[in-house]
Amino acid sequence: MKILVVDDSGFARRALIKLINEQLEGWAVIETGEGKQAMPLFTEHRPELVFLDLTMPEIRGEDILAEIKKTDIPSKVIVVSADIQQKTREIVMGLGADYMVNKPINAEKIAEALTAVMI
Ligand SMILES: [Mg+2]
Repeated sequence: MKILVVDDSGFARRALIKLINEQLEGWAVIETGEGKQAMPLFTEHRPELVFLDLTMPEIRGEDILAEIKKTDIPSKVIVVSADIQQKTREIVMGLGADYMVNKPINAEKIAEALTAVMI
């Protein structure tokens, strides 16, 4: 079972991966800080779950989400963002995200997200 973590912040990736490892045993975590690497890694690894940041310098997370949902790979996508606007949430859920977590993350938020996507 694999998880792909996409976030341009190394700090955010490390914090998230620590919580994932505490809450899910035996999952392989693939990570990238470069949004442009997200789709190549996604199609190569076919992860069951993706944690996806929205605001990144080269490509928006919304565009990555749309690309993920165009594939036939049945991954769950949890968006993790500091953007708490209701409009952003509506757009992201409209694009097919399975759950959205507001930064800053903590153990409870990640546990809720994992429960929500039934991982
Ligand atoms: Mg970011």
